[in-house]
Amino acid sequence: MSFKNIGLKEPILKALQQKGYKEPTPIQQLAISSILKNKDVMAAAQTGTGKTAAFAIPAIESLLRRKAKGPRILVIAPTRELVSQIEDEFRKLTIGTKIKSMTIYGGVSENPQIEKLKRNPDIICACPGRLLDLMRQGHVNLSRVEKLVLDEADHMFDMGFLPDINRILDELPEHRQNLLFAATMPPEIRRLAQK
Ligand code: AMP
Repeated sequence: MSFKNIGLKEPILKALQQKGYKEPTPIQQLAISSILKNKDVMAAAQTGTGKTAAFAIPAIESLLRRKAKGPRILVIAPTRELVSQIEDEFRKLTIGTKIKSMTIYGGVSENPQIEKLKRNPDIICACPGRLLDLMRQGHVNLSRVEKLVLDEADHMFDMGFLPDINRILDELPEHRQNLLFAATMPPEIRRLAQK
């Protein structure tokens, strides 16, 4: 299978070429077509497998196929480093498009994040704690989110983020696509997936 066979739009194919991605990795082969069919996906995948692009490519494709006001993609991940890496991948894969992405994490001033939220980003990559803070202050409207990605869900559980994640889930539209990635699948993660 090649990226062309999947039927991706030209801007992504160009960006993939620029990134030097010639063939989908195994996780990408499995996940991209299911995500494009709007199925919920739970995947056991370690860092280094290409898991970020496995959810980023079909998420961007869905944004390109239909125009609508954002935020439409919400990615939640445990650390500032991971959130930054994920957003960097989204940014590089959306080069040449009007798609806007942003990061939300703690330990830095809230103001630049609040300003970016006012510009209706299409994609938000966030750590749970700061996202919840900004939601409580009324700066984030998640009513238009179509796809939720929980990345490194097992780490988020280990770090005690599950209560925050559950509060965030309560604010999302019920009709949405859920994508869950974890290196391990302990019972707590399966229960979260059930929810
Ligand atoms: P990740 O598992 O998402 O952290 O990705 C691991 C590394 O693989 C990153 O450096 C990506 O840029 C790279 N990568 C992702 N997909 C591909 C692909 N299809 N071909 C080559 N490299 C890739």
